[in-house]
Formats: sequence, structure tokens, C-alpha cells
Amino acid sequence: MFARTLKEVEQMSGGSGLQSQWDEIEIRGVSIHSKSVEPGNLFIPIVRIKDGHDYAAEAVANGAAASLWQNDHPNPPLHTPLIFVDNSLEALQLLAGAYRDQLPVKVIGITGSNGKTTTKDMIDSILRTTYKVHKTKGNLNSQVGVPLTILNIAADTEFAVIEMGMSERGQIERLSRIAKPDLAVITMIGVSHLSTLGSREAIAAAKLEIIKGMPPGGVLLLNGDEPLLMKRIEELKQSISSICFGEQESNTYRAVSISMDATSTHFTCSRTSYQVPLLGKHNVLNALAAIAVADVLSMHVEDVRRGLQQLSMSGMRMEVIRASSGFTIINDAWNASPVSMKAAIQTFEELSEYPCKIVLLGDMLELGEHERVFHREIGSSINPERIDYVYTLGDLGREIANEAAKHFPEGRVRACDDTKELIQELRSMLKPSDAILIKGSRGMAFEQIVSALT
Ligand code: ATP
Ligand code: MG
Repeated sequence: MFARTLKEVEQMSGGSGLQSQWDEIEIRGVSIHSKSVEPGNLFIPIVRIKDGHDYAAEAVANGAAASLWQNDHPNPPLHTPLIFVDNSLEALQLLAGAYRDQLPVKVIGITGSNGKTTTKDMIDSILRTTYKVHKTKGNLNSQVGVPLTILNIAADTEFAVIEMGMSERGQIERLSRIAKPDLAVITMIGVSHLSTLGSREAIAAAKLEIIKGMPPGGVLLLNGDEPLLMKRIEELKQSISSICFGEQESNTYRAVSISMDATSTHFTCSRTSYQVPLLGKHNVLNALAAIAVADVLSMHVEDVRRGLQQLSMSGMRMEVIRASSGFTIINDAWNASPVSMKAAIQTFEELSEYPCKIVLLGDMLELGEHERVFHREIGSSINPERIDYVYTLGDLGREIANEAAKHFPEGRVRACDDTKELIQELRSMLKPSDAILIKGSRGMAFEQIVSALT
């Protein structure tokens, strides 16, 4: 964890105005929440919907040793050790960037439309067999989350595996310039954030910003099946090399003999067989990215195999849950985009051990003006020979149902508006041998349905 004197913090964060009697205060760690502050923390008052400055006093009462304070904010509590900054988010980012520069750690940055967290967890699980590793907690991949992740790296850490998310242009570049990844992964390009970025080309360009902060000699691992990435690869800085993974034969890392059992996916890459305790071809792609990273780092194949096999995931990503009454839930409700929803449905369609399979699908949010078209496409893509019932929840979900109803037998498709009613109906219909796939955007809070059913 970050540990410096307050004077050093002032320099590293681009701040000023620290009174000299507080120069030597020891700071250990930073916090942006007054309630979860730990003794010795630096409190950073981020201004979002709520203004962190309103919580600075509480943070100090809870043990914060000092606080940042934006110059434009009135009434600074002058009895508290304060460092004045123009913008506290920028100061947090500067502090993290300066700390990263002082660490001997190698950084692996991960971006992409889907599969970031999964790939991050896989890389961590592999590296952990051999090295001291720090990884992004859960999904802390934002402009705030990445700096906080970096500031939590212990001084003796050998590798940091850092997830980088974005919703608009420029954000990945900023994160890359802070984290300076030695290795970077772009998992894939989908259509998430189409509403803010406008086109898939723009999404690809935004993900490629990850190279901006890479040092010379850096290695970019990217999805070689994506023409939008391959097209731009020549524009990469010459000092950075690239390696591709994917389904096409041209990729250096490619999987063959892919098969699934009830809880795992098996495949072979470069004549080595692997097993991952997750379902779905898309997770093979994520595993290939992780294998490629491990290979660039010259890890032993046996450690790579073991790391993947031991993977414990951050949950709600093709998670197989057995309900107390016997039926199986495949919980993929972490989030949803057209690509990930199709991947999840396709994986579910391929599972052969369940006599009756039900999908519960919800709205995919933030897709922009063509959102209804994306939902209809999902509806028309569901195969009635492999899926028995389609349930949907939400207004956009109804589009999926309407389209599915056109090619499903009567009575097999139902669009619901009421969560309670839906849960009751599912409870009464699900038999011990059945399986249900649950998928929708985070905003749909499908985890509540999962817990009601289990
Ligand atoms: P977020 O933007 O929420 O951080 P993420 O990029 O971290 O998402 P994950 O949490 O790893 O992605 O996976 C989210 C969902 O995306 C999974 O449940 C799965 O359905 C789908 N998914 C994961 N990997 C891929 C992939 N390589 N291609 C397509 N879909 C994928
Ligand atoms: Mg994530």
C-alpha cells in the first residue's frame, strides 16, 4: 500500500499550500469514502453527484491523517493537515502515476468491450502460481478505480494486473499514462458504449489508446479476429510489438478441440491441454489472452495450466449455481451487451445435459438509438430446437420476446413486467433437472432474481 510523507504526497499530487509543521506526517493509503477511511489514510474528496468535501471532517474523525482540498472550494478546515489542489480527481491520478513510477512492479493493463474482468482474474490466477501479484479488486476499472488500485500496490509486488474501463474517448489513454503497462491486452471490440462513441471504429480506436502510456519494448496482445484492430496495428508505435490471439488460423494463440462439461471448458493451445472452470467459447478467448501473457513472461506451462484450472472468478459471469431444489442456474447477469448476450445464449444452447432449458433475458442498456434493433436481433437468433422457453423482463426485453415468438412454438415465450410475478412463475415451473440462463444489464439487478431462486 502507498506510504509516503505528506510533503512527498504534496509533490506527487501536484498540490501546494501544505503547512510545514505537517510535512513529516506519515500517510498510509488513500480513501475516497469517509466511512471506510483507515487510520493514516489520505482522504481525497472527489466531486461527483455528492461532493467529497462535505465528508472531509467525518473522514478525519474516522482516522484520516490529512485531506486534499480543491482550491475552488470555500471554507477549508484549516486546523486539518490539507494539501490544496486544482482538481482532486486529477490529483489522485497524478499521485497514482507518480507512485507507479517509483515501483519496480511490472504492469499488465487490460481493456476491451467484454471479458476484461474475466481475463484479469485469469492472468492473476496464473501469475500467482509463481509471483507476488496485485490485481484490480472486482471491477474497479474507472478513472477513480484505476488510481486507487495502483495506490494499493504493496512495494514488494512483482506484477500488477489492472483492468481499464471507459465510456468515452481519451479515458483509456489517461489510464494508460498513469499505469504505464508493460504488457497490454485488448480482449475484443463489441458495441458497448455505442451510444457515447458512435461507431465500432471509434470503440476500437478508444481501446487502442492503451498503447499511449506503454514504455518502449512493451507488448500488446490483441484479438486478431477483429479487423478494426488489425487494420490499425501499423499505426502502433514502432517500439511496441504485438501478438494476436483468436479463433482464426492466423493467430499465434489459437484453441482447438474445444469441449464443455457441466462446469468447465476444455481446449488445446500449442499442443497443451487446458481446463477452465467457466463455460463458453468466449472464455476460451479470454484464456488465450491469459496464456499469451504468461508465455511472453516465459512462465512454465504447468503453472499456466494450474493457474487456469484454479481460477476463482469475480462472480455473475457464466457462474454455475445449483439451487437447493435441484435446478441449475447459469448466472451471467454481471452485465449485458449484444455480443456478450449472444455468446452466453450460444454457450447455453450447446449444453446437452439438461432436458429443459430456459433463458431469462433482460434489457441491454446504453446501446444508443438502435437499441431496439439489437434486442430484436437477439430474439431472432435464439434457436427453438435448443432452448425450450424464453422469458424476458423489461421494456427492451419485450422486443426480444416479440421477435422470438415469431419462430417459437406457442406458449414458450413470455414477456414479463413484474419481477415478483416472474419469480413466482419460474419457481413453480423449474424442475430439478432444468437449467436457466439469466442475463441482463447491471441496471436490471438480476442478482435479486438469482438469490430469490436459490
Ligand atoms: P465490464 O465492462 O462490466 O467491466 P468486462 O469487460 O469486465 O465487463 P467480464 O465481467 O469479464 O467483462 O464479462 C462480462 C460478460 O461479458 C460475461 O458475463 C460474458 O457474458 C461476456 N464475455 C466475457 N468475455 C467475453 C468475450 N471475450 N467475448 C464476448 N463476450 C464476453
Ligand atoms: Mg469488468
